[in-house]
Amino acid sequence: MSRPNLVVVGSSNTDMVVKVSHLPAPGETVLGGEFVTAGGGKGANQAVAAARLGAAVTFVARVGADALGSAALSAFGAEGIDTRYVSVDPGAPSGVALIFVDDEGENMIAVAPGANARLRAEDVVSAEAPLSAARVLVTQLEVPLEAVFAALRAARASGVTSLLNPAPAPAEGLPSDLLALVDIINPNRTELSRLTGRAVASLADSEEAARALLDSGTRGVVVTLGAEGALVVDATGVEHVSAYRVRAIDATGAGDAFTAGLAVATARGATLQAAARYANAVAALATTRLGAQPGMPTSADVERFLAST
Ligand code: ADP
Repeated sequence: MSRPNLVVVGSSNTDMVVKVSHLPAPGETVLGGEFVTAGGGKGANQAVAAARLGAAVTFVARVGADALGSAALSAFGAEGIDTRYVSVDPGAPSGVALIFVDDEGENMIAVAPGANARLRAEDVVSAEAPLSAARVLVTQLEVPLEAVFAALRAARASGVTSLLNPAPAPAEGLPSDLLALVDIINPNRTELSRLTGRAVASLADSEEAARALLDSGTRGVVVTLGAEGALVVDATGVEHVSAYRVRAIDATGAGDAFTAGLAVATARGATLQAAARYANAVAALATTRLGAQPGMPTSADVERFLAST
């Protein structure tokens, strides 16, 4: 099978994770257990996951001119990711996320974006060559909207399939001209609710809200439903993909694993429904391991998992 090439435009953070018995309430100190430092940031997580799934990945991002930034760059290099378009910004620190994870795998996260907040449209435009040659562009909302817009415009201009993981979704939703540039969008329930201004509780709510997103010009919507799997909505209809039964210990990065699986399978020519089923397996495996990037499975892990279930 040919190696699908992707461009990921997005954030890179260093995640500092403390395992806790329960998430702290305001003012509460919880004596934590294990501490792990790991590569994170939705863009970087998706780039690493896609590379492990066998894609040739070019990452467009910004890190600070500091130890965390250079560690991130070498980690990307070790994953085989093309880092020529990761700029080192002397004017801001590398992005950092402080994360608590409880015994149920539930998390609580605060992010200091640093250099991520300085990713510009020009950074994306400078990556025109890999972008126009890509099968799929993947982007999220942890970098300025101007960079996301530039990426989606470049993809549309070159006929490259775009996948927007609308995370984190702004409370006021997204501009309609941005949504009109997106081919595939994969919100979780909270994000879907923000993007559509609708309450999203039941499966029926998700379907209705997803249909509203289709009306905005997006070709396909895949709603991730945590332990309930995912809902695929496109012009051909609706399919509910049940989640795999796994022992989830850390949901950090599950959404990113899902996005990467969706992107890689799409780049290999899968239908949206088949791509969502593959993504569902990739994400299930990611929840069984601690940390975002360290928890991302390889294509061999996924094949073994699929063969065993
Ligand atoms: P996010 O982490 O972005 O909020 P979700 O919680 O919807 O996203 O999870 C993303 C995907 O991860 C789900 O669609 C599913 O495939 C997988 N997943 C999440 N939690 C579990 C779980 N407990 N068991 C199996 N798969 C899960």
